[in-house]
Amino acid sequence: MEKPKSPKPAKMPRASAAEAKKPALAKKRTAGKPPARRVKIPYSPEEIREIFRRFSVQRPEPKGELEHVNPFTLVVAVALSAQATDAGVNKATRALFAVADTPEKMLALGEERLRDLIKTIGLYRNKAKNIIALSQRLVDAFGGEVPLTREELVTLPGVGRKTANVVLSMAFGVPTLAVDTHVFRIGNRLRIAPGKTPEEVEAAFLRIIPEDYLFHAHHWLILHGRYCCKARKPECQRCVIADLCKSPEKTCDVPAPLVELPAQTV
Ligand code: SF4
Repeated sequence: MEKPKSPKPAKMPRASAAEAKKPALAKKRTAGKPPARRVKIPYSPEEIREIFRRFSVQRPEPKGELEHVNPFTLVVAVALSAQATDAGVNKATRALFAVADTPEKMLALGEERLRDLIKTIGLYRNKAKNIIALSQRLVDAFGGEVPLTREELVTLPGVGRKTANVVLSMAFGVPTLAVDTHVFRIGNRLRIAPGKTPEEVEAAFLRIIPEDYLFHAHHWLILHGRYCCKARKPECQRCVIADLCKSPEKTCDVPAPLVELPAQTV
């Protein structure tokens, strides 16, 4: 058994950093290495199914917290959410989407006014540039529609694999697993889907998640990470999988009562 890696959430490659790593990953692959490491995990298939069953009881219909009104505004919201909170993004996009909910309207709005509307969000100058560029590409190459495949989505400026996976899942209902900081941490902390990169963690999760739980798995993992298995200090006494979890960091073996949770709020 490989020694468990202690995940350091602060070092999780965020969207931009992950994208910056892609050339190195591509280079490794062309050198003949497998796309993902296969690490033996300390969970049986039954335990994994039980973990996701409990998540499904807690949150039967989990929802993303980024507000959007169509696939285009979802792409914009996800692109804006890198190194920003969903709450902060929603605050800015309410006014933005009221005036620009299509690529054409975004282009008509222009980079300067867009910058002004999103200036409360980190890295807003760069993000504004990317959103104008991706709107232009959507108009030029896709007739103003958001494309339906990951291969096409990642050709949009500012859109990496994580953003593409979120859009595929939330806008088009494709079961994918976007790995953000919470999913990455859970995969490693619980030793359930260990990996050094978001792509490795994504591949590891996709190998183990039962098919019938895959569609909601992304949101379950994010919400579990955000509200219970928190980065600095996991709240194990509130955790419904405390008896199943095999994290060296866990502080409690008794699972919390399995009940449906109230609707989440941002
Ligand atoms: S028991 Fe603790 S470490 Fe394990 S999943 Fe729950 S909160 Fe995270």
